[in-house]
Amino acid sequence: MNMECPIAQKLEVILSRIAEATQRSGRDNVQLVAVSKTVPLERIQKAIAAGVCLFGENRVQEAYDKWAVIGEAANCHLIGHLQTNKVKSAVRIFQMIHSVDSLRLAQEIDRRSHEISKIMPVLVQVNVAGEETKFGVGSEEVAGLIREIRKMENLRLDGLMAIPPYSPDPEASRPYFRRLRICRNELEGQGLGPLPELSMGMSGDYEVAIEEGATYVRVGSALFGDRL
Ligand SMILES: *Cc1c(COP(=O)(O)O)cnc(C)c1O
Repeated sequence: MNMECPIAQKLEVILSRIAEATQRSGRDNVQLVAVSKTVPLERIQKAIAAGVCLFGENRVQEAYDKWAVIGEAANCHLIGHLQTNKVKSAVRIFQMIHSVDSLRLAQEIDRRSHEISKIMPVLVQVNVAGEETKFGVGSEEVAGLIREIRKMENLRLDGLMAIPPYSPDPEASRPYFRRLRICRNELEGQGLGPLPELSMGMSGDYEVAIEEGATYVRVGSALFGDRL
């Protein structure tokens, strides 16, 4: 009945592709974020047994329920949109928030992290294609938001994140990944750095993302199979 390729085998393929793309890019600092949204606990535990130590979830409640069981066996990053009323839980569960996209949200993360004496690592999500339907700050507003975040004592801003428009062709994402890297370089040029981390690339285009500078690739379906 279960003809599906085991997680460990898929992981091996993904890790070797990551290693090859990393080598092509001349760097050595790319981390896999295994996107486990909607994936049941037992499959996450199989991935942990296969060696995955970092997962990505897009809902606070779902991550809360799963990590109540997983605990410190693996880290979890928030990769989805965060509402301010969920921040209090989020700062307790996640080791990084990839999706900071407003000053109000950044202020709330800072305040809730202060309450638990935590320095919260975050990325600012940039709307690289200027899509109306997407979360993320427009490229004109990024510098202003980062300037404010740099003043916040309980946030540690590590870099930028982006989700390009979906396309079945991985090369279609390349200009958007490049745009995020250039955006980072310009911000650093304006004295707003360092911004070492770039979270970009998913199952269909993570190798292209690495070639363009990704340090976190967020891979879900290539590892866990199609989501229902
Ligand atoms: C679901 C999701 C992913 C993973 O997508 P796959 O195509 O399954 O790899 C990556 N990033 C974000 C923000 C997501 O919501």
